[in-house]
Amino acid sequence: MSLRMGIIGFGGMGNLHNRVYSAIDGVEFVAAYDIDPKRLDQAKEAGLTAYETLDAFLADDRINFVLVATPNHVHKELAIAAMRAGKNVMVEKPATITSADFEELIEVSKECGVVLTCHHNRRFDRDYLTVRKIIEDGLIGKPFAIMSSVHAKRGEMHGWRCEKQYGGGMVLDWGVHLFDQILTAFPEKKITSVFAQTASIKNPGVEDFFKVQMTMDNDLFVEVEAGTYCLKPHDRWVVFGDQGAFNIKDFACTDGGITTTDYELASQSQGDIVVLTPAGPTRTMSPLPAGAEYNTELPLIDVSEEGLVAYEDNGAVLYSRLYKNLIDVVDNGAELLVKPKDILRNIKFMEAVFESAEKGQSLTINL
Ligand code: NAD
Repeated sequence: MSLRMGIIGFGGMGNLHNRVYSAIDGVEFVAAYDIDPKRLDQAKEAGLTAYETLDAFLADDRINFVLVATPNHVHKELAIAAMRAGKNVMVEKPATITSADFEELIEVSKECGVVLTCHHNRRFDRDYLTVRKIIEDGLIGKPFAIMSSVHAKRGEMHGWRCEKQYGGGMVLDWGVHLFDQILTAFPEKKITSVFAQTASIKNPGVEDFFKVQMTMDNDLFVEVEAGTYCLKPHDRWVVFGDQGAFNIKDFACTDGGITTTDYELASQSQGDIVVLTPAGPTRTMSPLPAGAEYNTELPLIDVSEEGLVAYEDNGAVLYSRLYKNLIDVVDNGAELLVKPKDILRNIKFMEAVFESAEKGQSLTINL
């Protein structure tokens, strides 16, 4: 049977799904619905049937999976309409703005017996797959601190993202991906506290910078930061473990590496004298003895194994695993990779982020 996709909202992302993921065997994009006639013309040019009304779109029997790729504030109503028409649904992120709305979507999907999922594509970003691999292969021991940062330089947020009423702002735009990555890497760990700060630096209507600190199981400290105007970007990832550490400079993993030490040698006492170093008088910060530090390169992710579907001139990559999972779900009843309960957990976490930022307080949570 495979996927015969219909897209609601043929804008930037709707367009990209059709352009990129139609290359996968078993995925066919057949139709689109949009309220903007220009977008419908583009859908026709791309070879899709373009519908001017939602009812006509949903009556198209060829469609067995609907992608909702509109601005965030209308995801809920469109996803419900599609599920009530008997379609499986993948909603772009964030699936909904509130957890109450997503709980409603879960109920409707159960009632209608259809699949409900969210396009959490950044679970398959090269940098994130590298993070997972280093941690899962035990290359730095047990991680105790993670810094995940995304820093842009343009300042701008695009279109409706500049307005709260449409579900704009960086938390719902990038936070949703970055939190999903952390929650997916440690599904068995509970988030026990959150402290969030937000600011509007260049986009007055919404937060365009956020800094979120979360504690997981009281032994893993995670900082997630994203902003649109951060002209000296941090490394994309820095992770400290009890047997080593690593950094990944950027999404393409062009730089970074793993550092471990011969701990016995590295921690050897220097006696009772305080050493004078570039860091001033200190023993803690003094340089390591020769031969105590080992540096290795980042492991390479086997992109062919991950199912690369697009490789553009600028080095961009996208992986097909998510769509391949949906084919398997529809054809063979396989388990969903992006499950409603995990989508809901992430939305609840974002609610805690907004609450903490508004109150200016750390919150004790159990998520
Ligand atoms: P966009 O503004 O480029 O496109 C949105 C489209 O939806 C427009 O064509 C608009 O006319 C249409 N639309 C608006 N209201 C509608 C309605 N009620 N019914 C039908 N069509 C309607 O926005 P975008 O950048 O494509 O973002 C769309 C969604 O994709 C958002 O949820 C966004 O967060 C998500 N997104 C995800 C990623 C990712 O990597 N997963 C990247 C970018 C955007």
